[in-house]
Amino acid sequence: MNNNQILAKIFEEIADALEFLGDNPFRVRAYRTAANVLEGLPEDISVYINRNEKIYGIGEELREKIIEFLNTGKIKKHEELLSKIPRGIFEIMKIPYIGPKTAKLLYDYFNVDSIEKLKKVLESGQLLKIRGFGIKKIENIKKGLELYKKLSERFAIGEVYQDIINLKNYLSSIEGVEKVEVAGSFRRFKETIGDVDILICSKRDISEEILKHPRIVEVINKGETKISFLYELSNHRLIQVDIRIIEEKSWGSALMYFTGSKEHNILMRDLAIEKGYKLNEYGLFKDEIYIAGKTEEEVFEKLNLQYIPPEIREARGEIELAKNFKIPKLIELEDIKGDLQVHSKYSDGVMDFWEIEAEALKLNYEYVAITDHSKSLKVAGGMETEDLIRRNEEIKKFNKSSRVKLLISAEVEILNDGSLDYPDEILKELDLVLASIHNVKKDEDITERYLKAMDNPYVDIIAHPTGRLVISREPYKMDLDKIFKKASERKIVLEINAHYNRLDLNDLNILKAKQYGIKFSIGTDAHNRAGFSMILFGVKLARKGLLTKDDVINTLSLNELLSYIKLCREYRKSKF
Ligand SMILES: [Zn+2]
Repeated sequence: MNNNQILAKIFEEIADALEFLGDNPFRVRAYRTAANVLEGLPEDISVYINRNEKIYGIGEELREKIIEFLNTGKIKKHEELLSKIPRGIFEIMKIPYIGPKTAKLLYDYFNVDSIEKLKKVLESGQLLKIRGFGIKKIENIKKGLELYKKLSERFAIGEVYQDIINLKNYLSSIEGVEKVEVAGSFRRFKETIGDVDILICSKRDISEEILKHPRIVEVINKGETKISFLYELSNHRLIQVDIRIIEEKSWGSALMYFTGSKEHNILMRDLAIEKGYKLNEYGLFKDEIYIAGKTEEEVFEKLNLQYIPPEIREARGEIELAKNFKIPKLIELEDIKGDLQVHSKYSDGVMDFWEIEAEALKLNYEYVAITDHSKSLKVAGGMETEDLIRRNEEIKKFNKSSRVKLLISAEVEILNDGSLDYPDEILKELDLVLASIHNVKKDEDITERYLKAMDNPYVDIIAHPTGRLVISREPYKMDLDKIFKKASERKIVLEINAHYNRLDLNDLNILKAKQYGIKFSIGTDAHNRAGFSMILFGVKLARKGLLTKDDVINTLSLNELLSYIKLCREYRKSKF
């Protein structure tokens, strides 16, 4: 946060506190107005103060508070108020439909100073007895509490991806809009996101049109340069969206600033200072003179850095790489020649081979691995050996006239003792064997199970290696180093499962596995037609893990892929 944002937040808090304490409404208003003005100022507040410039909407008293903040880093009045009011009250005041006045009533009558106490009072039914709390108001507070709960949860990025792209497309379609970009953790492809930051460059005021979007449930803030609202997702949950209107000359620097990460930004700012510049969201400056900022590329170039792709801006050494022009060319969606995990209706998918082919053609694929589940995974329609053999014959027949080669494959269960769910005579008939673990006992360490399975020469890929689910399940207990080491020694590929629920391996594990010289496959785990589009998530994740085209086996052409698999199997057999 810059000075303007910090001060705006402090002023909002002061206003809330004053209102809670029943202070003069005009003074409360003055703080709120000033907060709003600060949020919208194009330059840092210190610039105006230094130039001794009047700022419309900020009076003498508050100006002094700003100066106090710039000199000391805090405002005494703010601190005083904070100490007078229990911390939890500030949280309660943030709940939609509960303003300072309601919070005050709740506190005076029921000593409500935490969300927990608020819940209890709501459940008790006591509120109805108090003047000022009608049925409607109580319903609203309950609704507000639900909203607040939903807002404080994070979303798996894949769960909200399409909704956000749809919003972006809507914004782009507004007349006069020149540029729209979603920044923040979305642009960096963090696996979970809390809210959405969108930047817009426009020739005219478009706030009315923005707010016409039918999925906007509630407007939180509507200023000249910032509009915030709650946006309803297709799953009916709500996410906060902040839209910022950016001037053309600051587009690139603002995009960098709001893309983050915060840690990355701090390092970039320090680097700029080292080179005698100042870098902020408004541009790159030398002695207060604007040097660059229109595009990100321009800013990187002026700093003598290689362009840093957004996915890797996480302060994990990318700036060092960029200094030396050593960021590799990261994999792109267009590099992918096929999907290496797809389930057909022979197990728990819903697609027949024609549907799979149709989707694959849309994506220009050469091949798709049909990876139906093996027999012991009964809950997911695991195939008995005879069914597998019959399915394989069907695939062979289909391939004679198909335009996309379906690889005869299976996602084979690794059993409790580390053996595989089909015998070797069956496995060796498969073009590609994915091995995976779905059943794990509580607290079971599965390292040995994996290591044993990796002795089998037909295990080509370990699918969703850690078993985690982005929001709801921790990774299985396992020694990743041992597994990476063995995978590397045995030329076993590790999957980047692109399904939005899984994203497994994740970015950090990809980085680590790459150190071991491991190759990766990207599979969507598609069970229906829509599932194919998740390949994008896999690619973004691979980029976040610094992978190039050469690190990922499904960038190979069909023939290259088949001979690669064959070579690895021969290698493993020779070592066995
Ligand atoms: Zn699976």
